[in-house]
Amino acid sequence: MKKSKLINIISSTMLLIVIISTALTVSAQTGINAPGGITPRPVVMRVHHTMQSDWVTVLGFARNSWNNQGFGNLFDKNNFPLHVTLGYGFVNGYNDITLWNRGVNSYIMQVNIVSRGVVNGKSTIFEIDMDINTSHNWFVDRTLTKPVPTDAVDFHTATIHELGHVLGLYHNTNTQRVSPMFGALRFGESRRNIHSDDKTALGKIY
Ligand SMILES: [Zn+2]
Repeated sequence: MKKSKLINIISSTMLLIVIISTALTVSAQTGINAPGGITPRPVVMRVHHTMQSDWVTVLGFARNSWNNQGFGNLFDKNNFPLHVTLGYGFVNGYNDITLWNRGVNSYIMQVNIVSRGVVNGKSTIFEIDMDINTSHNWFVDRTLTKPVPTDAVDFHTATIHELGHVLGLYHNTNTQRVSPMFGALRFGESRRNIHSDDKTALGKIY
């Protein structure tokens, strides 16, 4: 694969269980997918029991980034509960992160909004699952000190991005590629700082 290949981080695949009454909002900045956000909060994400500890640690950094935006602990700050669920997007009342070897031509990570509905007139997420394609050459650095190798995909950036979707955010259309909510990630690239656009969008929800 060429190193310059653009990898789509991905598209929220939505299985609509309840009709969404509010149109998808994609502004020139960070869009909002679910104006009602996610409930209940703080959000508990479960990780597959085979996930390596370094991965879980970096996932925790991504979670903390969103918790530190001034809107309280949107995510539960305790240790991630483990799960043994096989199969991505399984509607079970839990927000599960799965690991699957899907090949390098498939997405790098994806979220599946498996349950949506309307609360106080706003579309709201009730369950969301995240799938990580383990086929890619993930860069996982729990020391937060090393640059992303040019042939690797930054796990930290990708997890911040997907957790943004969990909170109801959509992609940032800023072409300067500065927000972690921008919809694509290249090899060797990282965007780990929550952008002011992201924070503005978050403030409209929470
Ligand atoms: Zn995305």
